[in-house]
Amino acid sequence: GSFQQLVRVAGNVCQEHRNLLNVKDRSVQVPIMISHRTDEEILLNPMLGTGKKNDVGSGRSFMPETLFYKLGGYVIADSAFPKHYVDEGSILFLKGSPRKEILINPNDVKAAIVTCGGLCPGLNVVIRELVMTLWYNYGVKHISGIIGGYPGFYTQGCLKTLTPSIVADIHLSGGTILKTSRGGWNLEKIMDSIIKNGFNQVYIIGGDGTHRGIKNLVDEIERKHLPIYVVGIPKTIDNDIPIIDKSFGFDTAVEEAQKAIESANTEANSVEYGIGLVKLMGRNSGFIAMQASNANRNVNLCLIPESGYELTGPNGVYSYISERLKVKKHAVIVVAEGAAASCLDEKLAAEGTDPSGNPILYDIGKHLKEELVKCCKKHNINATLKYIDPTYMIRTVPANSSDKILCSELAQAAVHGTFAGFTGFSVGNVTGQAVFIPIDLLISIKEGKDAKEGQRRVDIDENMMWWRLMANTGQPSFIND
Ligand code: ATP
Ligand code: MG
Repeated sequence: GSFQQLVRVAGNVCQEHRNLLNVKDRSVQVPIMISHRTDEEILLNPMLGTGKKNDVGSGRSFMPETLFYKLGGYVIADSAFPKHYVDEGSILFLKGSPRKEILINPNDVKAAIVTCGGLCPGLNVVIRELVMTLWYNYGVKHISGIIGGYPGFYTQGCLKTLTPSIVADIHLSGGTILKTSRGGWNLEKIMDSIIKNGFNQVYIIGGDGTHRGIKNLVDEIERKHLPIYVVGIPKTIDNDIPIIDKSFGFDTAVEEAQKAIESANTEANSVEYGIGLVKLMGRNSGFIAMQASNANRNVNLCLIPESGYELTGPNGVYSYISERLKVKKHAVIVVAEGAAASCLDEKLAAEGTDPSGNPILYDIGKHLKEELVKCCKKHNINATLKYIDPTYMIRTVPANSSDKILCSELAQAAVHGTFAGFTGFSVGNVTGQAVFIPIDLLISIKEGKDAKEGQRRVDIDENMMWWRLMANTGQPSFIND
């Protein structure tokens, strides 16, 4: 489409700069097109399957042959790609790269950075890279950290000046130097603070709740026609944000979970009828439990929110484990924290909500710990169970190398986007390429069966990783065998 159409697709352009966007800048004019074809359709279509370099234009940083392969059915191509290759309903994203011409004078910028929601490896890496990119690549000298999440905007003493020397080594530590929180989102107070402090670039690192807050903030700024740019950097250790390849911290979490699963395996194998039980993160989506189990290879049963199961009854988990213990004398179980939803709906609802309004989950780990041994006894097995919940040990570690790289890509893309004149967008890698993603889109797309808006879930019918897991563990599908 025309450049203006692309701009509309790519994000809300700050009102002030809308008419400036006719700049002749090749990097802006080469968008990435994402279409919703499935892998199968693409592979079956000879028109699309060739992937020859000439077909897609030159200068791409990814291998042409990987062009059409993407879990979730997205396809990436650039604008040199002939129009008829693009599905109706295709989504176009702009590259999250630097622009030849920038639309904002760095001397006028007062930037704010805030972290919200739960901890996740890599938060400090994102903060560091935002500061470094703003300071060194664009020359911004007014950068403030907001302490303690959204409420920090309107709480006395919660502004912290950020400079390269302050953030130089923070990527080596877990947590967030800016602290974080749940709850306390107040549009009026946050707007007042942004205006009073003169912030015109606001970088907000957080999950689904945080992004809903960003959307409301952007809408309000647009209503008031204020030249304030707001950008989200998606944070979720659970990897449950749609569209993007992978969220930062997820890789680190999968890696760190290995220690807990290995300990559980050692415990289980060191006594007769030993059970090692590990609870991992995953409120609605079981990616961490699934991939940590796939990586470990010694897991015998993995329970995730997406895959229904029964605990009791002849086809239930307790029977399955008891039978296994009789033959193999040990069992290693990984359960995602949200897996209670698959079997204990009524209890799940009974635990109330946290300050951000998220349901407090029924503790399925504790439930299994208490019930499993009792149920084994009914099958005449004296099981010994060791329960490990490594959640806080995992989410507080520093990011591993690949997450550090991902965090810095995201932070750089966020800064490039605001200087290109965009607001109300988030950043992420799609098929290995950093792109700008409109917040509206990010919080509305559903990915995976039964996902809610703005959510990605393991599709147990389609996701090969889940089938691999069943093959690795040998566990049945408790629902329909
Ligand atoms: P995670 O769940 O991965 O830890 P999150 O961003 O979803 O991250 P929440 O605690 O749900 O974490 O929300 C973070 C912040 O966003 C809180 O300050 C909360 O008040 C605010 N928030 C949550 N939902 C909304 C919403 N619908 N509108 C505005 N603000 C919201
Ligand atoms: Mg959340």
